[in-house]
Amino acid sequence: MTEKTTFVPVSYTGWGALDHLLSEVERFKVKKILVVTDPFLKDIGITDKVTDLLKSGKFDIDVYTDVMPEPSLALGESLVDYTRAHQFDMVIGVGGGSALDLTKLAAVLAPHEGKVKDYLNLTGTKRVIEKGLPFILIPTTAGTGSEITNISVLSLETTKDVVTHDYLLADVAIVDPALTISVPPGVTAATGVDALTHAIEAYLSKSANNITDALALQAIRLISSSLRTAVKDGENRQARTDMSYGSYLAGLAFFNAGVAGVHALAYPLGGQFQIAHGNSNAVLLPYVMGYIRSSCEKRMKDIYETMGFSSASMSQEEASSRCVEELTRLVMDVGIPLTLRGFDIPESALDQLTKDAMKQTRLLSRSPRELAKEDIIKIYRAAFDGVVSQ
Ligand code: NAD
Repeated sequence: MTEKTTFVPVSYTGWGALDHLLSEVERFKVKKILVVTDPFLKDIGITDKVTDLLKSGKFDIDVYTDVMPEPSLALGESLVDYTRAHQFDMVIGVGGGSALDLTKLAAVLAPHEGKVKDYLNLTGTKRVIEKGLPFILIPTTAGTGSEITNISVLSLETTKDVVTHDYLLADVAIVDPALTISVPPGVTAATGVDALTHAIEAYLSKSANNITDALALQAIRLISSSLRTAVKDGENRQARTDMSYGSYLAGLAFFNAGVAGVHALAYPLGGQFQIAHGNSNAVLLPYVMGYIRSSCEKRMKDIYETMGFSSASMSQEEASSRCVEELTRLVMDVGIPLTLRGFDIPESALDQLTKDAMKQTRLLSRSPRELAKEDIIKIYRAAFDGVVSQ
């Protein structure tokens, strides 16, 4: 069987990668550039680091700073309207997944007709047909992998939906771990577990292939060995570097192999309770893994070993169970609550959460264990009560 794998055409990764920005922008022969970022990054000088590098290029630069975490559809609509009204030649996204996802919409939907809503995966009626403006993505968190995926995630009233097409792949990704040094511990933890979840779900996905397996395992190795340090000691250059590479590799893996149950159940938590994407994945990770374990013991044994544990004398059953235990410990060690109660989610919400999770058929179809309505409610209940099945 032939396997297809898609990558962003050009990436720069590693400490100091940002130095390549100017030459890359010049390659596109553009004049009027929109930089999309969030107000906090502008305040702490990260956005200026990027725009300062462009000063010698005599570009006309407009900085859009209205990005909010977990961006809403309304925010997407307003940025796309703004881009259409100003005739830019290029868009540069600087920030976490929220800024990068909005950058993709601005660049790709600029020459399209209609609203962003028309292009949503679950309910949209229009298709992306043009490449749009060239765009460069510069992540400042080590988490989403948005810089190398072809999706843009938007928060709706009760859940999330995506706009997806290969035209949403950046022309250039610049992953410079130096930009993540200022990420506070709580955001480092949430975004780091998000990246780990991407790698794990890609490795366990029904659509995994030889290439995504290699990417996912190296991501799991890097993230599981550096996340605790990055959270405790944000200035640790090696830990930040490993996290940036881990997040990048996990992004490549999940973009090609897909994510599954954890994300399907996490989207409604983000949509209904405004829980940061990384936290909503993290709180569900142990419960979904515990529930699907019996359908993917061999692969969970691989993950356990990749996390640095020896399973030489163990059966697959035992190693996969230990894997769930270690993942639970990691989430706990980086300070993320391990129950839905810990995020103030009431028991009465579980039915609606289940209904909304079931709409994520694209994600659920890749789970190694089929997740029907009765399975999903059981997982939410376990996460509410804090009972991980192993
Ligand atoms: P974010 O972009 O929402 O940022 C979270 C917070 O961290 C913000 O307050 C931001 O100002 C701050 N921050 C970012 N970089 C910082 C830095 N260097 N120093 C200090 N503070 C910093 O968080 P995120 O987790 O990166 O992105 C979440 C969004 O990405 C969600 O909407 C999620 O659904 C989406 N997402 C997209 C993909 C994809 O492939 N497109 C994948 C996963 C998640």
